Amino acid sequence: MARGLAKEQAQQKSREKAAKAAGGKSQLKTRAAAFKITCPTCRTPLSDYKNFKEHFEAKHPKLPLPTEESLKPAA
Ligand SMILES: [Zn+2]
Repeated sequence: MARGLAKEQAQQKSREKAAKAAGGKSQLKTRAAAFKITCPTCRTPLSDYKNFKEHFEAKHPKLPLPTEESLKPAA
C-alpha cells in the first residue's frame, strides 16, 4: 500500500513539475508579449515602444513623442 502510494505521489509530482515548467514558461512568454505601454494621451495599450511610436505618430502627430523611458512605470 505504502509503496503504491509513494509511486503515485512520485508520478503526480513529476506531472506537476512538467506542467509547472510548461505553464510557467508559456505564462512568462505571454506576459512578455502582453501590452507593456499605454499611450499617455488616449490610454490605448500597445505592445512595445515601436508599436507605440507608430500609434503616436499616426494618432497624435501634433504632440511631441514621449521617450521610451518616460513611458515605463516608476519602479
Ligand atoms: Zn494615443
